Amino acid sequence: MLSYLHSFHAGNHADVLKHAALSLLLNRLKEKDKPFVYIDTHAGAGIYDLKGDEARKNSEFKGGIGRLRQAHERFPELTDYLRVAQMHDNHYPGSPQVAADMLRDGDRLILMELHNREVRELRKNLGGDPRVAIHHRDGFEGLTALAPPKPARGLVLMDPSYEVAEDYEKALAALAGAAARWPTGIYMLWYPVLARQRDQSRLLRRRLQDCGFNSLLLAELRVREQQEEFGMCGSALAVVNAPWRFDQQLRNLLPKLQALLAEDSGAGWKLEWLIKGG
Ligand code: SAM
Repeated sequence: MLSYLHSFHAGNHADVLKHAALSLLLNRLKEKDKPFVYIDTHAGAGIYDLKGDEARKNSEFKGGIGRLRQAHERFPELTDYLRVAQMHDNHYPGSPQVAADMLRDGDRLILMELHNREVRELRKNLGGDPRVAIHHRDGFEGLTALAPPKPARGLVLMDPSYEVAEDYEKALAALAGAAARWPTGIYMLWYPVLARQRDQSRLLRRRLQDCGFNSLLLAELRVREQQEEFGMCGSALAVVNAPWRFDQQLRNLLPKLQALLAEDSGAGWKLEWLIKGG
């Protein structure tokens, strides 16, 4: 049974990294008139009430989008993400809502979610949009089944909750399978950087190199010192088929995000091409 609920974490530092990068990628796809498809394999509820009990339990958003909103003038490259984040009074837009607010009439969104409550909320929040198809299904299997989509131009966000250890293996298999069938798609996988005893990020990184991708860019943002046993000190994105100069956009953005979101002197960032495409 799934128990993770994103409402407890909405708008935190990990969401800021993920949704900032998502907005940059969507803008790159919008540079051409041609329509594209956005696939969200782990969509969540779509939008989250920041005044609700769940979001307020640890108020994680204060250390993420709360800080970014206050420093908006230092982030002109995130104008679209910040605009979307301001559009929904007291609510934080999850990845499906960020995409829905940025996509054009001819573009499509395919959203997958397995949790009963979350998919109900997702339907309530985004089900009325004619561009959106919502699937109550396993996103790993769903991606394999849907690749390549029509149009075969687009972006996949894979953002598992990693509630079960197998999520790491399933993510690798689903991405490798999809990229083999849809080699021109852009894929972005989010993963956490956890306390040393639980962290899987180094292993994941090694395994990602063996998936047969044409190119692979890694971006990591840590907001605090990595502890031994507990806690998430940061998160990372693995981007397959990153558009030209997306690395440069991240190289400018990551140090600014580190300065803004740092909670102690252990904060840091990393950007690395694991596989450099030709
Ligand atoms: N992508 C969302 C965003 O950025 O706003 C947040 C997604 S949240 C981190 C992960 C979601 O994946 C949860 O809502 C969880 O219920 C869902 N989930 C867990 N396992 C899944 C699976 N195998 N397939 C699809 N969804 C799953």
